[in-house]
Amino acid sequence: MNVIQPLIELQDTDGQIRDLEREARDIPQRKAQEQARLAGVNAALEFAKNHLEAHRGMIRKEEAEAEEIRAKVQTLKLAQTSIKSNKEMQQSIMQIEGLEREAETAENRALALEEETPTFEKNVAVAQEKVDAEQGGVDGLVADLDARLAEVNAELARLQQERAERSKAVSDADPRTLLYYERLRTRRWPAVALLNSDDVCDGCHMKQPPFVGQSVDRNAKIIESGGTVQGPVVCTMCGRILYRDL
Ligand SMILES: [Zn+2]
Repeated sequence: MNVIQPLIELQDTDGQIRDLEREARDIPQRKAQEQARLAGVNAALEFAKNHLEAHRGMIRKEEAEAEEIRAKVQTLKLAQTSIKSNKEMQQSIMQIEGLEREAETAENRALALEEETPTFEKNVAVAQEKVDAEQGGVDGLVADLDARLAEVNAELARLQQERAERSKAVSDADPRTLLYYERLRTRRWPAVALLNSDDVCDGCHMKQPPFVGQSVDRNAKIIESGGTVQGPVVCTMCGRILYRDL
C-alpha cells in the first residue's frame, strides 16, 4: 500500500490546521489592539472635557465673587439711610466705590475667561469627532474579527474530521510511519520532505549518505508493487520522513 500519498495528504491537512490555529490565536490580540486604540481616543476626549469643565469652573468662581461683592454694596447702600454724620457717609461712599471696583475686576476676569471658552469647546468637539470616527471603525473591525473567528473555528472542526480520516489512511498503509510522523510534526515542520535526485533532504538541505537514497527507492518499489513498507526512511540530519517525487 502507498503510505507516502496519504501521508502527504495528512500533512497538507495539518498545515491548514496550523495556519488556522495561529489565526485563531491572533484574533483576540488584534481585537485588544483595536480596543486599546479606541481607549486612547476616549481618554483624549475625557481630557478635553475635563479642561473645559475646569475652565467653566473658573468663570463661575469669578462671577460668584462679583455677585457676592455686589450684594455687600447693596447692603451698604441700604445702611446709608441710617447714617447720621457726614464723615460716616464719606466713608461709606468710599467703601462702596472700592467694592464696586473689585466687583468690576472680577467681572472683567470672568469675561476674559469667557473669550477663551470657544477654544476649549472646539477641543472637545474635535476629540468627540475622533471618538465617533474611531468607534465606528473599531466596532466594524471587531465584528469582522468575531465573524472571522467563527469561520476559522468551523473550518477547524471540519479539518479535524478530515485529519482523522487521513491519519487512518496512513495508519492503514503503515502504522509505524504514522506514529513517527505524529511525534515529529510538533518539532519539525514540515515533517515530510522530498529527497531530490542528488540525495539532498529538502527539509534541512543536507546531502544524505547513499544508503538513505537506496532505502527510499526500495520503499518506492515496494509501494509500487503493492507491498507494505517497514516504517519510514528518515533524514540522518533532521529526522524528516523522506520520499522521492511521485
Ligand atoms: Zn533533513
